[in-house]
Amino acid sequence: MQGYVDCHCHISSKDFDKDLEEVVESSKQAGVLAILAVAEHAGEFEKIIELSQRFPGFIFPCLGVHPVQEVSPEQQRGASLQDLDAALPLIEKYKDQLVAIGEVGLDFTPRFVRGETDKDVQRKVLIRDLITLASINSQGKPHCLVSSNEFRLWCSFSGSACRRAAASGSSSRRQIHWLIAIVL
Ligand SMILES: [Zn+2]
Repeated sequence: MQGYVDCHCHISSKDFDKDLEEVVESSKQAGVLAILAVAEHAGEFEKIIELSQRFPGFIFPCLGVHPVQEVSPEQQRGASLQDLDAALPLIEKYKDQLVAIGEVGLDFTPRFVRGETDKDVQRKVLIRDLITLASINSQGKPHCLVSSNEFRLWCSFSGSACRRAAASGSSSRRQIHWLIAIVL
């Protein structure tokens, strides 16, 4: 079977609420075999799990703490340890259903971080995400897409980073957003 896997999709965004069925159907018709639904914050984790249950075998859930958190449509900030505290219990709760920890990463874009302290917090959040990933891996992953115990790291650079790199002709060193697979 040939097709595409969208390994970085914010399908839980309210932007898709009105025509989700249509989006899923048109994706399938375009050759998309699976969508990995990535999270930004704990507030959407349940919705992502529900979407994976509503579209089994097509939408696969990934939970994580995005490096940039939205305060309002006009205001964003770097991820905090409180964001992580809210996320970890739900990641633990749903760990057997996850195909990845994501979206996670670092984003030091000046408007999101006020200084070195904010950068350190983002690093701590990312490290804790990675520890959580390692913990889940060490427990064995029952929902392997491929029968293998191999640990793989998927890097999925954000569209904004890609656009910036393309525009500037060089790679962005301020943004690294990852989707980290557990066991595939
Ligand atoms: Zn993203």
